[in-house]
Amino acid sequence: MYPIQCHLWTKNVLTEDDFDFEKVETLYESSHFDHIIYRCKKCGQLYFYDFYEWVDFENGNDKIYITYVPISAIEEGIKMNDNPNLQMKDFSPRLLWEPDGSIFWVGKVSLVKEV
Ligand SMILES: [Zn+2]
Repeated sequence: MYPIQCHLWTKNVLTEDDFDFEKVETLYESSHFDHIIYRCKKCGQLYFYDFYEWVDFENGNDKIYITYVPISAIEEGIKMNDNPNLQMKDFSPRLLWEPDGSIFWVGKVSLVKEV
């Protein structure tokens, strides 16, 4: 789904400060891997949060990958969490937070006609 009312969708450049979320439900939690449903405090949009920490046992260069997928209902997030073959790359649009700190949408399309 396209969260077109959300500032995270409409803003061109996103930073850490743009994330104003409240936790709705923790679906799965471990030291290196989390699934949480968050709600945007500004517009109420639900997001499925996928946290994955890639542990570098040899060099200690651990990397954290975060993906947010906009969802329309809590049940949708529960289904995602229950799917053993869940791959975040299968979801579009999705909001990525990369280890280098960059935050950007994949699959973002303009739903407004260019003038
Ligand atoms: Zn929002």
